[in-house]
Amino acid sequence: MGRAFVYVIVGGGVSAGYAAHEFVKRGVSIGELCIISEEPVAPYERPALSKGYLLPEAPARLPSFHCCVGSNEERLTPKWYKEHGIELILGTRVKSADVRRKTLLTATGETISYKYLIVATGARPLKLEEFGVNGSDAANVCYLRDLSDADRLVDVMQSCSGGDAVVIGGGYIGMECAASLVINKLNATMVFPEAHCMGRLFTTKIASYYEEFYKSKGVKFIKGTVLTSFDFNSDGKVTAVNLKDGSKLSADMVVIGIGIRPNTSLFEGQLTMEKGGIKVNGKMQSSNTSVYAIGDVASFPVKIIGETRRLEHVDSARKSARHAVAAIMEPEKTGEFDYLPFFYSRVFTLSWQFYGDNAGEVVHFGDFSGNTFGAYWINKGYLVGSFLEGGTKEQYEAIARATRLKPMIEDLGELERQGVGFALSVSQKASVSGPTDVVDSCVISDKPMFVWHATAGVIVAASIAAFAYWYGTRRRRW
Ligand SMILES: Cc1cc2nc3c(=O)[nH]c(=O)nc-3n(C[C@H](O)[C@H](O)[C@H](O)COP(=O)(O)OP(=O)(O)OC[C@H]3O[C@@H](n4cnc5c(N)ncnc54)[C@H](O)[C@@H]3O)c2cc1C
Repeated sequence: MGRAFVYVIVGGGVSAGYAAHEFVKRGVSIGELCIISEEPVAPYERPALSKGYLLPEAPARLPSFHCCVGSNEERLTPKWYKEHGIELILGTRVKSADVRRKTLLTATGETISYKYLIVATGARPLKLEEFGVNGSDAANVCYLRDLSDADRLVDVMQSCSGGDAVVIGGGYIGMECAASLVINKLNATMVFPEAHCMGRLFTTKIASYYEEFYKSKGVKFIKGTVLTSFDFNSDGKVTAVNLKDGSKLSADMVVIGIGIRPNTSLFEGQLTMEKGGIKVNGKMQSSNTSVYAIGDVASFPVKIIGETRRLEHVDSARKSARHAVAAIMEPEKTGEFDYLPFFYSRVFTLSWQFYGDNAGEVVHFGDFSGNTFGAYWINKGYLVGSFLEGGTKEQYEAIARATRLKPMIEDLGELERQGVGFALSVSQKASVSGPTDVVDSCVISDKPMFVWHATAGVIVAASIAAFAYWYGTRRRRW
């Protein structure tokens, strides 16, 4: 048994949803596109799972966060796919692929053939067992990647209210889950081997702001050590976490966020791999010209950095998806993907954005004892990365624009003094002088523009419960 489509997307997450939207915008015909996904639901905005989904009051639930609400665009419900003649094969794993024959074999035994294939298989969490620790299957040990993980996490959190939670890992998932755990009235302790949280992105100074904020909400930090084993009760539930430094933490539940591994196995030995992902060119096209890769699984040339990177962020998933579809449907009109890396997070009343690359020297700016502060990264004399906490829409847009323009920085002290005002002024100058792609030199000579905007919509002194309500009702963005 088999079916044939012009376009097939394997994987049904964020990038698949945005690719489908782009196919429709570009006039895909009824019956030409098929999406095959292991998940039983239509593509959704995955970041919601560690934010709105975990709120104790008015939590986000599907269908509210199907793609593409995260970009303030239409919400693609299963009805939308049907109306546009897109075949959505859900709850179905693709178990093998043959790129020479242009076929996929599903776990249900169906062969699906394609003219163009888009690989959007994302990534899966690294398991403790890969580090020699057993216990991933225990009923109170949680990971967080998909909807079923999130449902499980919610159930376990609710059953442990008032108890002790240990979070293993100090990255995105660890930080966002720790915040949710205390909002859900658990005592959370974070354990990670690095010297500070968000080790891959934050500087020590930035991390210490967030750690202090977390501590003020009751989160404890144990740094510089790792989990070595669990203690279990007779039901097989974890009761304590043993650390390499010899300490033991009592645990009613454990959340693991120790990184992810891209889902490339279907294509190993068939497509060229790089940096753990499927290597693609600036059109998101792999070493096989009929196969494209997008989202977390794709390693693509990031022009502005001058390197091939594999990014694990939602903005890159959305934009790489749109670019691949443009390249497939209108190849002659589509240039190279020119992406400015963008990461963000929102926890408690905090909200930060990062653009570019965190390479080179760092210049911190702003009020680290207040609500708005940031950092610039200067590499070989040029601004290459910008971070801002608590900014306004205008300020975030300005740091994005300034980073994209890559201005030359001559005086780091002056840059620090101007702070976010520097990005605003670069951005304003660029708008006046027209749509310039690159500003080669930008001497910092303007008067400082320290107008520290009150952070719109942020309730600074809110209690955790009030915050949860506010966050759920006012800030439902993915
Ligand atoms: C809890 C959480 C919170 C996040 N928060 C943020 C955030 O705040 N900011 C940010 O920038 N990024 C965030 N991210 C990262 C962001 O969600 C990912 O970068 C994005 O989802 C990647 O999209 P993707 O389409 O590549 O992969 P995914 O969205 O993971 O989709 C992959 C899909 O492929 C399916 N699949 C895999 N293998 C097969 C197969 N063999 N057959 C069929 N289907 C298959 C999977 O089941 C899944 O549906 C978060 C991620 C998580 C897990």
